[in-house]
Amino acid sequence: MSRVSTPVRNRVRQRAQHRCEYCHLPDAFSSYGFHVDHIIPVIRHGGSDQLENLAWACFRCNTTKAGDIASYDDDTDQLTPLYNPRTQTWSEHFEMDGPWIMGLTPVGRVTVRILEMNAEKQVNARQLLMDTNRW
Ligand SMILES: [Zn+2]
Repeated sequence: MSRVSTPVRNRVRQRAQHRCEYCHLPDAFSSYGFHVDHIIPVIRHGGSDQLENLAWACFRCNTTKAGDIASYDDDTDQLTPLYNPRTQTWSEHFEMDGPWIMGLTPVGRVTVRILEMNAEKQVNARQLLMDTNRW
């Protein structure tokens, strides 16, 4: 049961310009529903239902992120928070390399790994959208 009202859900979606705020998948081309992600999960970590804690997320990013908020970066061995779409800028932490999403920083790298952004199906879907000028 969603804790987020329909008007709030619509505002989050609009603010995100109808794209996943993590992997940038356009919601019009997803066969699964998008979710309002609690950037800091409510139950496990005390996050709020306020707009500053909400992000528009594709099914894949939302379910792989689940209750995670951080992980160890392979390059630095430092515990690193996942990307926060409300307080950080996507292009500072990620870049596209064809259909692949590359983490530029520890935050970007842990987010790409935990959210499995370069899983084969995700990469293939991005490539198809790019090939048909819908990305
Ligand atoms: Zn996504």
